[in-house]
Amino acid sequence: MFSQLTDSLENTLKNLRGQGKLTEENVAESLREVRRAFLAADVNFNVTRDFVKSVKEKSMGAEVLNSVTPGQQIVKIIHDELVAVMGGETKEINLSAPSPVGIMMVGLQGSGKTTFAGKIALWMRSKKKRKPLLVAADVYRPAAIKQLQVLGKSIGVPVYDEGQGNPVEIIKHGYQYAKDNGFDLVIYDTAGRLQIDEELMQELEKARDAVHPDEILFVADAMIGQEAVNVAETFWNRLNFTGVCLSKMDGDTRGGAALSIKKMTGVPICFIGVGEKLNEIDLFHPDRMASRILGMGDVVSLVEKAQQVIDEKDAKDLKKKILNNTFDLNDFLKQLRTIKKLGRIKDILSLIPGLNKLPLDQIDEKQLVYVEAVLSSMTPKERKKPQIIDGSRKARIAKGSGTDAARVNAVLKQYESMKEMFKKVGDFAKRQNNGGTIG
Ligand code: GDP
Repeated sequence: MFSQLTDSLENTLKNLRGQGKLTEENVAESLREVRRAFLAADVNFNVTRDFVKSVKEKSMGAEVLNSVTPGQQIVKIIHDELVAVMGGETKEINLSAPSPVGIMMVGLQGSGKTTFAGKIALWMRSKKKRKPLLVAADVYRPAAIKQLQVLGKSIGVPVYDEGQGNPVEIIKHGYQYAKDNGFDLVIYDTAGRLQIDEELMQELEKARDAVHPDEILFVADAMIGQEAVNVAETFWNRLNFTGVCLSKMDGDTRGGAALSIKKMTGVPICFIGVGEKLNEIDLFHPDRMASRILGMGDVVSLVEKAQQVIDEKDAKDLKKKILNNTFDLNDFLKQLRTIKKLGRIKDILSLIPGLNKLPLDQIDEKQLVYVEAVLSSMTPKERKKPQIIDGSRKARIAKGSGTDAARVNAVLKQYESMKEMFKKVGDFAKRQNNGGTIG
């Protein structure tokens, strides 16, 4: 995400950090670079101009603090300005309206509308304990109804549909169905077109006026950059949507849409899509995104993700095992599965400050799949006492995991070096504890 923009901004700021003093000259030079980086990232021209102007004013007027270098100070000013340009606060979906709360998804065909409808249903159920109903009103795109039904089934969320009927009627009936059947949230997947057309807009207006949804979420594909902003402006003029969902932020988007859309429409981004799977959705946090853009990582998101999957008791048990050197391959397998639940390794690493510089695209997620396959093909006894794994057991494990003996050896070796490292940690901790028990 935004790797090119992050690189150019980091370079610019590196130059400034080295300066003992901020002068009008070196600030101006750096801001020229910032401007170039923004335009190359497909950020809207007016947004770029205002951004640079505002940073310039603030850095010239800023009181120089003793505790930070002038370079650090300007990084802070740019960071805060990035947060402001992306909307400042995180936009929360309004769930306080009378039940059922209505969310209408709008956007062009292919923008990721249907996927987002499913993602939001899942998110609302797991994070907000809502009981959602999906309504299939995209009657034009071939297979859209079927797609929503499949999505709904995969997450156990019912889908209301009437086949290829009249979309405004379907939306009205969907609302009534939700009301009559105890759903407290209804998400309408509406029709899109490949381009904006008058008929579509009129239909969406009619649908909106038929049910008065509490939120209208405009879905845009982040990969199309500023073009997404142009489409957003047209939709905004007709529908006054209340939030933006940016899909495909997992791709190498340049940043244009994320940085321009709030400023150009006045409407904040509320969700981002970070993959095709239905759990690959995140709330949009302007401050965290600003930190990521500046290459400062996003540790808050990382900790949040970890908290979701790591059980406190497991963490304690693991610590005990590491310190007492009783960590076996059963524990290894368990840890591996926990890490996998966090998401793709390269996505996790990209959240850590400084590590966004690694060639993350070259990370081979398959390696982990092999390790897991090898570990899963062992018996619990073998995982507990790996020393019993002889030649014939190795051959069996290799066959069972679809790998070969070399791969099995590599996993065992990896475990040995891990154990060696843990032993050192344990010994060190024991010395610190004067040999007392460790819990
Ligand atoms: P719609 O026509 O607006 O309903 O678009 P779809 O929901 O069918 O999405 C179009 C394509 O984009 C599908 O292949 C989706 O799997 C894909 N897609 C949607 N959201 C994301 C995302 O956040 N990341 C990635 N990589 N693909 C996505």
